[in-house]
Amino acid sequence: MVALRTASEVEVRSTVNSEVYVASLFPIQNEDGEVVDLVEFAKDVTLSRDLQDKLLQTERLRALGEMASGTAHEFNNTLAGVLGQVELLLATEPDAHMERGLRLIAQAASDGAATVRRIQNFSKTSRGEEVVPADLNQIVLDAVEVCAPRWKDQSERDGVTVLIRPELRASSQVAGVPSELREVLVNILLNAIEAMPAGGTVAMRTGENTRWVWVSITDQGVGMTNEVRRHIFDPFYTTKGLANSGLGMSVVYGIIKLHRGDIKVSSEEGQGTTVTIRLPKARNLPAKPQPVIEAEPARPLRMLVADDDARLADMLQQMLSLDGHEVTVCHGGAAALEELAATPYDVVLTDLGMPEVSGWDVIGAARKLQPGICTGLVTGWGVQLEDVELNSKGVDAVIPKPYSMIALRATVAQLSELRQSRAVVALA
Ligand code: ADP
Ligand code: MG
Repeated sequence: MVALRTASEVEVRSTVNSEVYVASLFPIQNEDGEVVDLVEFAKDVTLSRDLQDKLLQTERLRALGEMASGTAHEFNNTLAGVLGQVELLLATEPDAHMERGLRLIAQAASDGAATVRRIQNFSKTSRGEEVVPADLNQIVLDAVEVCAPRWKDQSERDGVTVLIRPELRASSQVAGVPSELREVLVNILLNAIEAMPAGGTVAMRTGENTRWVWVSITDQGVGMTNEVRRHIFDPFYTTKGLANSGLGMSVVYGIIKLHRGDIKVSSEEGQGTTVTIRLPKARNLPAKPQPVIEAEPARPLRMLVADDDARLADMLQQMLSLDGHEVTVCHGGAAALEELAATPYDVVLTDLGMPEVSGWDVIGAARKLQPGICTGLVTGWGVQLEDVELNSKGVDAVIPKPYSMIALRATVAQLSELRQSRAVVALA
């Protein structure tokens, strides 16, 4: 008889690449219990290890971010105290020697404030600027231009040649904040240039698939050890000495996360580095304008519009009134809640980001108070919201900013139809 028993599992890490296997050995015994053979199974667990590493990385960075933003706040107060005192002393007309010293202190405090701002950027979870459809190709070219003093002028002076080779093949736009994406590409490009003290070429490629638009930056520089690659996104992590902040890649990470994109760094010592970023396509805004079927204006509806930006709210009211709808405007979420509790409506259209009472709250309350009501979210984030999230929160339609009269009319027509079907269900 042959018996099969599990003996042991060993983890095997490939030395050629970073693949990890779990190998199980089963001894095969004869009737006398002697081991006559071994059966081996090897299971590739590289992927799940990668996922684990990624999760750990995310957790660690979140903790660091929270700590950093708390510190940043304290630090700002301290710096304000230092700068204020320096200003007061400068006003007493100090002698030249003293004045020089004071100006140096002021400069150092201002530099500190700039660092604090970068930390806040790294750890912020929301932003002031609106997400718009952005052209990644243009942003790449802007970054190359911004960095020209480094790759062109300074390199020429030092007698080394740095070439930048853009290969721009993406044709769709991304949903993003252009100034932030420029900062991302500038930080990565500067790292690439700094990694090639003897010169070389940086390739900047863009492309796309059905969901993502990507950009990759490949240098021929010194590359990274595994150790450096593990810490590259840590705030203040630098291998370049005191003159460097070590904040570049942490800011990059923070911005990309806010854009709901992802970032990959592949590098080996002496072999150069490739940084690849994927960003979600601006999916409600096709690259080539598609013909929009003009909808008939919907039958007149009673509509509530909520936006804390009074100009936008009033503009929307005017556009809707043109089609004969009866529109009430609330300049903020709290006012909208009161109005919904008092008056029945067919449709509520609300801005998403409002202080105190958000668009989610308005829609939640509307569905609760008036079950048949139809809801639309008017937002600059529309292109990046997940359908699952929208459904679970009771959102019937998303109107991405900026919107045209035609797009608005089409959405309102859909909401009108939906409203009718809900009314019928309620009657039955
Ligand atoms: P800093 O550039 O101020 O050092 P960063 O956050 O931009 O800070 O980068 C952190 C570290 O990651 C760098 O000090 C360097 O060791 C490594 N690094 C980043 N990009 C590259 C690259 N393209 N090639 C080699 N090393 C890099
Ligand atoms: Mg850097």
